[in-house]
Amino acid sequence: MACLDQLSAAQIAAGVAAGDFSATEVARASLDAIERRDGEVQAFLQVSADLALAAAETTDKARAAGEALGPLAGVPVAFKDNMHLVGTRTTCASRMLENYESTFTATCVQRMLDAGATPMGKTNMDEFAFGSSTESSAFHPTANPWDTGRVPGGSSGGSAAAVAAGEVTVSLGSDTGGSIRQPASLCGVVGMKPTYGAVSRYGVVAFGSSLDQVGPFGRRVEDVALAMNALAAGGRDPWDSTSQPVAVDFLAHLNDPIEGRRVGIVPALMDAAGLTQEVRDAVSAAAKALADQGAELVEVDLPNIASAIAAYYVIAPCEAFSNLARFDGVRYGYQEQGCATLAEQTSLSRAHGFGEEAKRRQMLGAYLLSSGTYDKYYYPAQQVRTLITADYARAYEQCDVILMPAAPRTAFKFGELSDPTQMYASDMFTISNNIAGNGGISVPLGLGAESGLPVSAQLQGPAFADASLLTFARAIERSFSPDGGAPVAPAFAGKGGELA
Ligand code: GLN
Repeated sequence: MACLDQLSAAQIAAGVAAGDFSATEVARASLDAIERRDGEVQAFLQVSADLALAAAETTDKARAAGEALGPLAGVPVAFKDNMHLVGTRTTCASRMLENYESTFTATCVQRMLDAGATPMGKTNMDEFAFGSSTESSAFHPTANPWDTGRVPGGSSGGSAAAVAAGEVTVSLGSDTGGSIRQPASLCGVVGMKPTYGAVSRYGVVAFGSSLDQVGPFGRRVEDVALAMNALAAGGRDPWDSTSQPVAVDFLAHLNDPIEGRRVGIVPALMDAAGLTQEVRDAVSAAAKALADQGAELVEVDLPNIASAIAAYYVIAPCEAFSNLARFDGVRYGYQEQGCATLAEQTSLSRAHGFGEEAKRRQMLGAYLLSSGTYDKYYYPAQQVRTLITADYARAYEQCDVILMPAAPRTAFKFGELSDPTQMYASDMFTISNNIAGNGGISVPLGLGAESGLPVSAQLQGPAFADASLLTFARAIERSFSPDGGAPVAPAFAGKGGELA
């Protein structure tokens, strides 16, 4: 009897198409795994059992009618709760949107459904995607499946944990400064932030519009490639002005040889303060694995990357302040009752609807955009952005991809990073890529020698070289995950999820 834990997305789709099992059986197996595992993990804010079973039935009926099935037929997928899906609430893990019912479906979600995926529900996150631990969810924390006393990372912590615990095969997250790659790293799964513009954000609640990008999680690079194909299918989305057509078959390039291709290493990053020895060692081992497969390692420099976090914490709060101004307690979202004036209602709705970090970001943004401070901080931050973008352009004249850590350390304990600036440093290796708009992927490298927790490497690439990132990620996976992908966290493997 097959267990969901063992199956890749492609195997599920092939099994459904061949009639080895039905999409309904797969959906039930996923629901069973969620039922038995999620009490402890708490990756989900909402399990959409009815939607899942209805979608699976549609898939099974299509097969019975002899229709061709999609490449994700029957694959159980979860969506970060900042993505609209009709029939679910979209809360962004905030009291502000606690009862908000999606009125339309996001393009990224729709494309997964069009490929045949089964929607299992909505996953937990840091409120409005502000954070790196999922602790700022207004509803409950999510546990790291590898050690339930630790955080899964964030802000897409629920999406990463749901995959790491084997509750679903694939999930979607969003990454504004690292929110796909850092939780993927802490949960030992693959997580990809595609190039800015590669995936439509239509229907994804905006945080930092010049930085936000949607991308997939999976335990295998192949699963992520399959999801990327689904997200790209249909071409440019006219509903998102930043959307670009992506006409590449990500699966077709997965096993391209890397011989003779150049992998950039940034020595200063490998010596960065805060990077733990076990992560440094693991990334060095990944570099060696790529060299053993014929890649050429070259040293490159990103001289301005040390200013990336500072620039991000000017640009991102400004954009967040502007985007979140729409939550005024009038048209939708939390509304304070019994107020004497509209001003009081707006002010109290925002004061009581938003959590601490969401307020901190918006106050920071309001301050930074006020006259005087605008010239002092916003302009320089945009100038730093130009410099970082130019650094990458120069580096990519010398190499095809850059290898570096994804997160400086393994999963931390709940409450361990109480100072916000410590939390902000979680993204020291990911943020610069959002600033430049390039793609990046976090690839699991097994368990750290010291902590025994998942460690990973990150690959970054030039704009729209996302297929190359998957090729190199697959090369690393070949060396580090001989079984073809990362395992389900041992405490949850085999707990339910059998295909009846
Ligand atoms: N941790 C970063 C922040 O809090 C990035 C979050 C994200 O990518 N959504 O802003």
